[in-house]
Amino acid sequence: MLRIMRKLAVNALKSPSLCSEPFRHVYFQKTKMRVLSVTQHKCSLRNYSSPPGDVKSLRSVINPHISRIRNIGIMAHIDAGKTTTTERMLYYSGYIRTLGDVDDGDTVTDFMVQERERGITIQSAAVTFDWKDYRINLIDTPGHVDFTVEVERCLRVLDGAVAVFDASAGVEAQTLTVWRQADKHQIPRICFLNKMDKNRASFTYAVESIKQKLKTKPLLLQLPIGEAKTFRGLVDVVTKEQIVWKPTSDLDDGKNFEQKLLLEADDPNLFQEVQDARNTLIEQVADLDDQFAELVLGEYSENFDLIPADKLRSAIRRVTLAQKAVPVLCGSALKNKGVQPLLDAITMYLPAPNERSYEFLQWYKDDLCALAFKVLHDKCRGPLVFVRVYSGSLKPQSAVYNINKSCTERISRLLLPFADQQIEIPSLMPGNIALTVGLKQSATGDTIVSSKASAVAAARRAGRDAGREKWSTSDVESLLLAGVEIPDPVFFCTIEPPSMARQQDLDNALSCLQREDPSLKVKLDPDTGQTILCGMGELHIEIIHDRIKREYGIETYLGPLQVAYRETILNAAQATDTLDKTVGDKRHLVTAELEVRPRLGERATTKPIIEYAASVTEALPKELQGAVENGITNSCIQGPLLGFPVQDIDVTVQSLMVHPDTSHTMVSACLSRCMQKALKKGGIQILEPLMKLEITVSEDYLSAALADLAQRRGSIQEIQSRQDNRVVVAAVPLAEMMGYSTVLRSLTSGSATFTLELASYQALNSQEQSALLQRRMGLV
Ligand code: GDP
Repeated sequence: MLRIMRKLAVNALKSPSLCSEPFRHVYFQKTKMRVLSVTQHKCSLRNYSSPPGDVKSLRSVINPHISRIRNIGIMAHIDAGKTTTTERMLYYSGYIRTLGDVDDGDTVTDFMVQERERGITIQSAAVTFDWKDYRINLIDTPGHVDFTVEVERCLRVLDGAVAVFDASAGVEAQTLTVWRQADKHQIPRICFLNKMDKNRASFTYAVESIKQKLKTKPLLLQLPIGEAKTFRGLVDVVTKEQIVWKPTSDLDDGKNFEQKLLLEADDPNLFQEVQDARNTLIEQVADLDDQFAELVLGEYSENFDLIPADKLRSAIRRVTLAQKAVPVLCGSALKNKGVQPLLDAITMYLPAPNERSYEFLQWYKDDLCALAFKVLHDKCRGPLVFVRVYSGSLKPQSAVYNINKSCTERISRLLLPFADQQIEIPSLMPGNIALTVGLKQSATGDTIVSSKASAVAAARRAGRDAGREKWSTSDVESLLLAGVEIPDPVFFCTIEPPSMARQQDLDNALSCLQREDPSLKVKLDPDTGQTILCGMGELHIEIIHDRIKREYGIETYLGPLQVAYRETILNAAQATDTLDKTVGDKRHLVTAELEVRPRLGERATTKPIIEYAASVTEALPKELQGAVENGITNSCIQGPLLGFPVQDIDVTVQSLMVHPDTSHTMVSACLSRCMQKALKKGGIQILEPLMKLEITVSEDYLSAALADLAQRRGSIQEIQSRQDNRVVVAAVPLAEMMGYSTVLRSLTSGSATFTLELASYQALNSQEQSALLQRRMGLV
């Protein structure tokens, strides 16, 4: 968001008509942002810019009616055109004055320097703007697989999404991943087939691929007029209106287009196609919506042509919201065609916040319940936290309670990231999104309520509903909104500051970056005391490295990138351990006996399943159970062989004797030691991450890509044809994939693209395992 704001502010500064001298001064001197208070806003808005809606919509700027809000995400495979589409949306809604171009590194949403250089969207950018009478809060989600956690986090706050496709490629790997994530969060979607102007663009192919790969029912709401070079517009199947862009020059921005009813005389073939498409659409929708079926079979059974557009639209909206089908639209963002109808479709077919149901809301009643979904660090104002309010309202100068961190914090100001300004607002109502200033502890994914008492009241309601007299920790957990599952990192490396004097600055930079991005893990090597950076991919770590340099001014050194292996055991084993320590006048005495077993069936979880022998269950006081389980679980974080997490283990506590004075810490320590013994006896097996690799490559370079894969211990699972390209699906150990993007680029003259995703963990054979051990011990 910050980068959008900065860019917009920079744009505003570039244009003398938009900004007076004193204002520029404020911009540079104070906050690098335009911050207007509500009282200031009326005149400021008049003075500095006049977006559509202008001052008349000021009231709705601050708190639009909930039914007019759309919290929308854009998701897609890398390069499908998300950034370009977002840019066009901002332009047509009036909030940027010139069109940026991703190819020139000049767009608003790809603001981070790294994004511009690499031509990808990394951090989610949220931007708020109005389209007609609607407020659109748009979250641009990243397309690179290293950042799927970022996508997942955004999906939590969205009510609807637009999936952007390259019409010449259909459904690509990353879209499939994000689509599944959206399914999980039950997010209604619409599809936008972009790049209709591109050579080999095919509307039919793309629709077929949506049907086959996404296993969904596409509702064709538009048909293209022309394809590839001849693409010039579209027909709205609902109204049978044709929308044609007639650019007068290369600089034509697509704001003007011709919209009129398509007549048979205009193009008899197209007319017939549209007629058929409309009938098919009506039948599809009637199949999925009883209310519409009644209408069609009753009043309009003789002539579908007479069905009013608004009745059809309402029915399309109902089936989209129920996620029974997905509207499909088309266009070319780059050539400025089709984006305005896409904006209309967002307002027409995607849900308002009050049309989504959230189970947790019943516990809060009308109390405040909000989710912190993104943290940005502003050098002047400290952390800026994006929040979405689900119930109640948020006010500046008020204390709030963070359930995840169990702490009370103060919000000093609330800012609406509205177009190119940050407008200070007096309150934030349900369904809306804003930036808060003042929250110091809150991190991405935290739940915020008005007070501790309000959290307890909600937990009590949840507990009562579950039939419990007293509320418990599980009731508090049911109040938490986010809990985005963060996959374990697959890569790690050491990171060092240029001098010891800068270690503290580095620690500070890393903790800020971690609050922004929970998929980044930082730990301390217990043996060497070095800081270790753990990330989701090579690109992820590279970006963090760059950001530390650019944003925090610290030149750091990264050690070689290493693969995060896992450990498991081969056989069941038992161990006994006794801890006997006297501290002061207290004797701490614990004796434990454990059995560990390799888990069959469900795989790849680092959380051990813990059982107790009947005799232990009877004698174990409830309050000690936590200490026992902590000890066991902690010992699985660092395996006994190389210190990697231990996965797929079942544990039985066979006997446990605890002296009455023993502290919980001592109980955990004894169980931990006993676990380490048992794991060693069980015979440690190292597991390596096995990745699913998908390469899209032209026929000419296919053999070069395959030969290279063979050298990487890759096993090819499938080679599909996609238009003129081949798509190779393979499984490859991650250890063999270091620097793959550079190699693939040179092998295929930059024409191939790939995605890499964690598939599973597989056992190293004994030679590989001993080679790895020797390498790790520095013997080779
Ligand atoms: P993102 O990675 O999904 O954000 O995609 P971008 O918006 O960065 O676009 C990727 C590339 O596709 C850039 O070179 C764009 O110029 C190009 N592109 C985007 N939209 C279109 C389009 O409608 N037609 C064509 N031909 N190219 C497009």
